[in-house]
Amino acid sequence: MTDHLPSLRETLDAHGLSAKKSFGQHFLLDLNVTRKIVRYAGPFDGRAVIEVGPGPGGLTRALLESDAGKVVLVEKDPRFIPLLSELDDGSGRLTIVEADALKVREAELVEGPAHLVSNLPYNVGTPLLIKWLTGPWTPCALTLMFQKEVAERVVAQPGEDAYGRLAVITQAVAEARIVMHLPAAAFTPPPKVASAVVHLIPLAERPAPDRLKRLERVTAAAFGQRRKMLRSSLKQLGGAALCEAAGIEPDARAETIDVAGFLRLADALT
Ligand code: SAM
Repeated sequence: MTDHLPSLRETLDAHGLSAKKSFGQHFLLDLNVTRKIVRYAGPFDGRAVIEVGPGPGGLTRALLESDAGKVVLVEKDPRFIPLLSELDDGSGRLTIVEADALKVREAELVEGPAHLVSNLPYNVGTPLLIKWLTGPWTPCALTLMFQKEVAERVVAQPGEDAYGRLAVITQAVAEARIVMHLPAAAFTPPPKVASAVVHLIPLAERPAPDRLKRLERVTAAAFGQRRKMLRSSLKQLGGAALCEAAGIEPDARAETIDVAGFLRLADALT
């Protein structure tokens, strides 16, 4: 347990630290909340966990109490490194990396399968998700805090307002569900919006990189003009003929096509 440590608020005060807007900092200072998130993320069965943006270390403390074999922190704000070092018990289980998570190569941080857990900085949440789901390194599971609207766009189903490119790309490569909602007041300082935690498990069989690229082209065109019929929004890519080759009704709109339908459109693209 980490109960012997001073509270997160006392730790921040002792280091003279406060949240910086430019780093998207909104902290979770209630360990009951961070422990709950880690319960949704686990069990880890001794595997490594990468935590992006640990900040004052509320999630880190909960991860250190869990069955994670290793905990690797990636934090961009150098002010937090000394504070996070205080969580290191010298056993070699904790690694602290000062880096930009958008640039870091995760495969160099961990050996074998690893989980990803993060209360993400909102301004880089979506690019980080896309990096982890479609890039060269993929975690075995991801448990990520997003602003509520983004979480809804990740898990949205056809016909829902939030259904779009992010839902199709994410669900083509992973199972995704919202496991927890948090009001703005749960954070210090509170952001302007509510948040939600999404748990994602990458599919065992994911589309090959070139198929994903084609899926990105099709979804960008289809949802770029989401109110238009596909025969028109996909005109540059083959229009009605492309739809027919994919077994899709050319008069349909993007928001009604499921992930399997978009994959067929991507496959029909030459
Ligand atoms: N995990 C902490 C918590 O729950 O209290 C802090 C969450 S705060 C929303 C986001 C954290 O991500 C901050 O510590 C911030 O400095 C860090 N951060 C912002 N941009 C980053 C980036 N590109 N790479 C790594 N960390 C980043």
